[in-house]
Amino acid sequence: MKMKNRIFFSIFSAALLSLALAMALAGTVFYKTLSGELETEVRTEAEYIAAAVNSLGGDALRYLSETGVKSENRITLCSPDGTVLYDSFADPDTMENHAGRPEIAAALWQGSGSSSRASDTLGERTYYYAVRLENGGVLRIANTGKNAAGILGGSVLWIILAAVLVTAFSAAAAVFLTRAVVRPINRIDLDDPVSGDAYDELSPLLTRMDKQNKKIADQMNELAGQRDQLACITENMNEGLVMFGEGGRILSANPAAGKIFGISGLPDNGTYLHLCRDKAYTDAVETALGGENSSALLEKAGRIYRLSASPVPGRVSDVSRPGGSEGASGGTGYAVLIAVDVTEQENAERIRREFSANVSHELKTPLTSIMGAAELIETGIAKSGDVPRFAERIHSEARRLLTLIEDIIKLSRLDEGVPIREFETVRLDEICESVLRDLSLKAEEKGIALESTLENTEIQGVRAVLYETVYNLCDNGITYNKPGGSVTVKLKSGVLTVADDGIGIPVEHQSRIFERFYRVDKSRSKETGGTGLGLSIVKHGAALHGGVISLKSEVGAGTEISIDFKNK
Ligand code: ADP
Repeated sequence: MKMKNRIFFSIFSAALLSLALAMALAGTVFYKTLSGELETEVRTEAEYIAAAVNSLGGDALRYLSETGVKSENRITLCSPDGTVLYDSFADPDTMENHAGRPEIAAALWQGSGSSSRASDTLGERTYYYAVRLENGGVLRIANTGKNAAGILGGSVLWIILAAVLVTAFSAAAAVFLTRAVVRPINRIDLDDPVSGDAYDELSPLLTRMDKQNKKIADQMNELAGQRDQLACITENMNEGLVMFGEGGRILSANPAAGKIFGISGLPDNGTYLHLCRDKAYTDAVETALGGENSSALLEKAGRIYRLSASPVPGRVSDVSRPGGSEGASGGTGYAVLIAVDVTEQENAERIRREFSANVSHELKTPLTSIMGAAELIETGIAKSGDVPRFAERIHSEARRLLTLIEDIIKLSRLDEGVPIREFETVRLDEICESVLRDLSLKAEEKGIALESTLENTEIQGVRAVLYETVYNLCDNGITYNKPGGSVTVKLKSGVLTVADDGIGIPVEHQSRIFERFYRVDKSRSKETGGTGLGLSIVKHGAALHGGVISLKSEVGAGTEISIDFKNK
């Protein structure tokens, strides 16, 4: 029940109860007073008449019948034996003996007596008072008046009207009072409970409320701060972070996770299956939901991610959770998944693995050849005339080995990174000239013309690395050329271009020739003493100097490779 209603009913019923009690009390007093007056009147009249009769010698009958006492009250005279001698309202002969009436019996016995009896008429009552006369007879005066029911019955309309009016007034007063009581409570500002002037009795409660308000506000601020901090971290981290709830339902995912899994915004009621269906991913999440840590590698849109999924302890859910049938395979908990982009590390690792395997293979081939030739000489199988040929083979294979090892050393130096102190201001045009000088003999032998247009170009770089870079480009231009061909080295506006009109590179190989040990034509490359590492060194050399490589090549027409050093 509303407090307002309760207060209203309390006041209203108290008012009505008080009213009823007051009316009952007033009625009783009024009734008592009225009947008291009637009794006094009857008694006084009886005393007067008795006194008059006694003073007239006691012949009451004569007095009454002759003087004809005028009275509205009923006057009855009885002889000492109770026989009715006179009655002002009835014929005494028709009346029975009155000796047994209580008031008459009392008067005969003790001089006076009274009695009150209900009348034949409804709602009326008769009061009798009897006095013993000196002659022994009894004089009785009776008066009939309304009893309580009679009085009430007579004024019932007025009473109802009064009751309605008073009830309405009580109701209005109760409404007014209720409002007056409730108003200060309603006016309490719950955000600042102690500011108002509500009842003093409420002040301990309001003070407590105020304290708790402040405590809650402090805690909310602290929580909001922590939440913002966490949101700031998760929103700005590069790693994808996804939290899963019961049944693998996605609770939250940071923007990085959205990017990784290619979704924008969380799907409503989406489970982990909405993010990705790759087995590596689903297995990892399901294992974590099942309560165990797990990790896996996921390949997505050309990138490689390491997924680490961990269960979140203490949040074990109901087995009959919604979505449980979607494949969480017994998982009952919460889990968190972190996806880290490890493409670079994985690629580097793969290249290292391949490189080791390739190096072993590349070293083995010339060594096997050397061993074979040496064995033939050693065992005398080779005829003495053939020995110089085998010795020549051993020599060329050993040279090849040496070149290979030198290239590997150069590459691994580049892999490790060149210390900054080795950088200096170098004249790139001078490096090109020295390369062309060093290769002039080889070019001449192969009938290749070397041409150059070189602008003075200064860059910050490592001389030896730049030399190797230009050397490898020009060397390839000569090697993969036709007799009578040419190689042109151009240096203009910070762009180095080495062009030849040689055999060209088929389109399908063009994207791979910068890989280590990659050769378009294995046998030709070997014939020419190529290691398959030249362009890898070029790639690393250019990268070290911030150069951007571009390649144009057409089979039969020639190749043009440029390095743009402008940014350097
Ligand atoms: P190699 O030591 O075999 O020359 P490179 O890394 O220098 O190794 O070159 C890789 C491959 O690219 C070569 O084997 C060759 O097939 C091809 N190539 C490089 N430069 C040229 C060029 N100027 N013209 C034609 N093919 C080329």
